[in-house]
Amino acid sequence: MKSPQIRERDKSSIETRVAKLLKELGNPEPPLRLEDVRFLLEINLGYFQHDDAGVMKRLAHRLKVAGHQLANRPWLLIDAVKRLDLRALWVPDQKFIMIDKEQPEAKWRWLEAHEMGHKLCDWHGPFLFGDNKFTLSPECHLKLEAEANYTAGQLLFLGDKFRGEASDVKLGFSSVKQLQGRYKNTLTTTLWRFIEQRGHQQPIVGLISCHPHPSKHPASGGDLCRHFIQSPAFATRFSKINGLSLFHQVAGYCKPQKGGLVGEDELDLQDDDGDTHRFQFETFFNQYDALTLGWHISKKPRLVSLA
Ligand SMILES: [Zn+2]
Repeated sequence: MKSPQIRERDKSSIETRVAKLLKELGNPEPPLRLEDVRFLLEINLGYFQHDDAGVMKRLAHRLKVAGHQLANRPWLLIDAVKRLDLRALWVPDQKFIMIDKEQPEAKWRWLEAHEMGHKLCDWHGPFLFGDNKFTLSPECHLKLEAEANYTAGQLLFLGDKFRGEASDVKLGFSSVKQLQGRYKNTLTTTLWRFIEQRGHQQPIVGLISCHPHPSKHPASGGDLCRHFIQSPAFATRFSKINGLSLFHQVAGYCKPQKGGLVGEDELDLQDDDGDTHRFQFETFFNQYDALTLGWHISKKPRLVSLA
């Protein structure tokens, strides 16, 4: 699934808003303290739990959906949260962000920043935004969701600061880990950002997948490769490569070990003109997902047969 293109005008509008906000915070060093953003935007943060009817009733009491007070019909909210598998909500008229407490704590930062995105993109209007697992992945299918995600990325990676730092470090997973420690975002979002921002000239590619070793694939035959991340230079020059076939190439060098760096190797990939290019790859397993990073090293010379 590819995320929809955000119009350049909307991108620059988001960048301006985030830059203004960061300036008001004194252009802080990473990690961004979300409590400071909340204070500045006068936003409150709360948590909900699907199975806690009391919490859900209190929440429903505060909410209006499309102008209708939910206080007398809390089951509408409980039903929506269950049916849509909601992970977070933005409640504009109450200036409230609600996060599903059962989500892994590592994801709360992204969830909160995404909801802040709906607030900062004021053209999203006074609507209640509920976000489920589909809209909250960094690649999402709706325009507004893409904009909220873009805003979250701008916030959590402090505007242009990450781009500058990502272009100064050596290419490799150790740099992604180092930047993750500095910005305190998840390894997945850091990898994603690193590929997008570092790979404008140099083709860089990434995968978020299950453990690539064949003995570790899900027995249920589920999704092997969830995300295929392409840097701008990779997307324009290697458009015929797909995530799943790359995953199978990666599986060829991975060992079945349970964590850490599970493999590294050089792989050859073919560009759209049919030329072969050598890439360096590294794959890291964090107990949940395997994260793969591959970057372009060189173009292999074409063999010409002389008649
Ligand atoms: Zn959203």
